[in-house]
Amino acid sequence: MRKKIVAGNWKMNKNYTDGLSLFSEVLNMVKDEVRGQQQVIVCAPFIHLHSLTALAKGHAQLSVGAQNMHQEASGAYTGEISGEMLASVGVQHVILGHSERRQYFGETDALLAKKVDAALGNGLAPIFCIGETLTEREGGSHFDVVKKQLADGTFHLSADDFKKLVIAYEPVWAIGTGLTATDEQAQEIHAFIRKQIAEKYGEAVADETSILYGGSCNPKNAGGLFAQADIDGGLIGGASLKSRDFVDIAK
Ligand code: PGA
Repeated sequence: MRKKIVAGNWKMNKNYTDGLSLFSEVLNMVKDEVRGQQQVIVCAPFIHLHSLTALAKGHAQLSVGAQNMHQEASGAYTGEISGEMLASVGVQHVILGHSERRQYFGETDALLAKKVDAALGNGLAPIFCIGETLTEREGGSHFDVVKKQLADGTFHLSADDFKKLVIAYEPVWAIGTGLTATDEQAQEIHAFIRKQIAEKYGEAVADETSILYGGSCNPKNAGGLFAQADIDGGLIGGASLKSRDFVDIAK
């Protein structure tokens, strides 16, 4: 049985005090309300990570992730954060390849492949994001785009390493726009992604890989999306900034 996961992506939101409050609320609600095996992850800005991992200690259901990291181990990279630094504050996950990083910071598949290696080398589990733009979907190339992002970013890994990844499918046209893929659209491409994994690593690895949906997920649409056979949870942006909405999605 593959893991069900709901991961929040706070993006560049919440100062130190507000971040602590939000996380404390989420932690209390998760403890009281989230039953079963699902994993809840909060991916916060760097300034929060040390405090949040301390708060999450002893609560196996809730863990903390970063939203990016540098591919090199250390050195003269002013303003950057390494995987080793993240691991040293107890972070367990890192989002890699988010479309905002690809779009605004020029992150390429080749660079992301290096970041994936650096994350795994430091014991971090990447949440690897893929997804097409509106133009690509309208032009009918969304399957090819997603296939290439997945293959170029992750298919250099051994099966044992690939198993440590979580994949997030996020259609760029659905992120922060209020437009969501329909349950059927999302299921169709999730099944396609799982098929690519099966062709590369075999059915067993594909069956075990959690594939999350992201893009304007909210408490109203999450149930329908997460009920699809190949959707194993969500990567939640805007709605993860409200503790009630985020935990309702997890529930
Ligand atoms: P959204 O963001 O839920 O605000 O659309 C999702 C994401 O970018 O991870």
